[in-house]
Order: sequence, then structure tokens, then C-alpha cells
Amino acid sequence: MEKRQELYAGKAKSVYTTDDPDLLIMHFRDDTSAFDGKKKESLARKGCVNNVFNAFIMARLEDAGIPTHFEKRLSDTESLVKRMDMIPVECVIRNVAAGSLVKRLGVEEGMALTPPTFELFLKNDEKSDPMINESLAETFGWATPEQLTRMKALTFKVNHVLKQLFAEGDMLLVDYKLEFGIFKGQVILGDEFSPDGCRLWDANTREKMDKDRFRQGLGGVIEAYEEVGRRLGIQFTH
Ligand code: UDP
Repeated sequence: MEKRQELYAGKAKSVYTTDDPDLLIMHFRDDTSAFDGKKKESLARKGCVNNVFNAFIMARLEDAGIPTHFEKRLSDTESLVKRMDMIPVECVIRNVAAGSLVKRLGVEEGMALTPPTFELFLKNDEKSDPMINESLAETFGWATPEQLTRMKALTFKVNHVLKQLFAEGDMLLVDYKLEFGIFKGQVILGDEFSPDGCRLWDANTREKMDKDRFRQGLGGVIEAYEEVGRRLGIQFTH
């Protein structure tokens, strides 16, 4: 597999073309950002931790029948993925109230959400990822009703698989964000799944083990990500 030119550099990952037009290389950098890129820092080992973590989770999701863009891990910080047309809509499921839901609705952080909620946001940093709905997505052509139905079903399927997986490591999957794309006409899961894009709490102490440690300046960010991995039996390569 030959790595060619950089196609895109996001806030934490860079994407490269390869000699195969259907495949891209995703490079996980140590860069960490929050608040639409307003808070930025480089955290040692983060690229490796998230790359290895994501590879583990994507394999579990594939095993459960969820189609993903993930092909294989290439190195400590790089993975091979399918080249998709990204759908600019973020899907969020919440099992427990936290983050923007708490701010928006004034509910108490930590409240169990039964049934879990499902929200859509437009992927647009300039507008701070505004909340949208299916009607807006259809009208503005961000996703078709059929794609939205599939994205919602897959996001709930991921919840079913991962809630259980994290529970086995004594962790609570509070909420998470997924992104999807189209590959050969099919909706498949893209981006990454790591503690950067979800909230995980210790099931007993409710200690935060995710990117909220960075957002809130709690320290021990990567140590917490590594502890999440350790509880899932992940062997980090660094
Ligand atoms: N999230 C994300 N990227 C975003 C916005 C949210 O990965 O641009 C994740 C976030 O880590 C959390 C979930 O989606 O696990 C719900 O986030 P929320 O709407 O509460 O917003 P936040 O408080 O993160 O701004």
C-alpha cells in the first residue's frame, strides 16, 4: 500500500490518498481540540491510543454486523479505511444526560435517559455544529430520508453492542457521536470511535474517563483513555 498525498487535515486526524482509489490512510495525530477548535493541545501518545482503540472497537462493530469504513491498522498511528462520500450529519445517542443536553434543557447531569435519545447535528465548525432534524437534512440535501433511517438504525445498533462492551469493563457509555458515509451506494460507519467522541464514566464512582477531562481541564486525559483500553483488554503498542 503506497501512501500518496494529504487529502485533508482535520483537528485530530489527517487523511492521505493511496495507490488504490477506494482506500485512504487515516493518521491519528496527538492534537486535541475542543470548543470548535478554540482549545487546542498536543497530548503525548494520544494518536497511538486512539488509533489502537478505534481499531479494536471497529472490529467489534463489524463482528456485530455493522458495516464500517475500517480495513486494518497499518502502524501505531495509521489505519487503512474505505474512501466514502461523507454525510455531513453527526448522529448522537445519549443514555445518560450530560454535555449540551444538560445546558440546553436544564436537566440534571447523570439523569438516566429512558429510552435513550437520538439527535442530529450538522457538521459545521463555523456554525458550532447546530442541532438539525430530518426535515432540514432532507430539504438542504445533507442526507436522504432513507439514509437517515439507516443511520439511526445503525447508531442504535452500535449502542446495543457498546453499552454491553463497556459495562463488562465497569464503565457507563453516557453518550457518543457517530459519522457515516456512502461507499458503493451503502451507508457505512466512518470517522472513529474513541474517548474523543464519546462520554465514558466509571460505573461505580462516575469518574469521567473521556475527552471531558480535557474540556474541563481535569488532567490525566491520556491516562484515562489508557485505563478505558486496559479495562477492555486492549494492548497498546507504545
Ligand atoms: N461530540 C463529538 N464531536 C462534536 C460534538 C459532540 O464527538 O463535535 C460527542 C461528545 O464527545 C459527546 C457527544 O458527542 O460524547 C454528545 O456531545 P454534546 O452534544 O453533549 O456536546 P458537547 O458537550 O461535547 O459540546
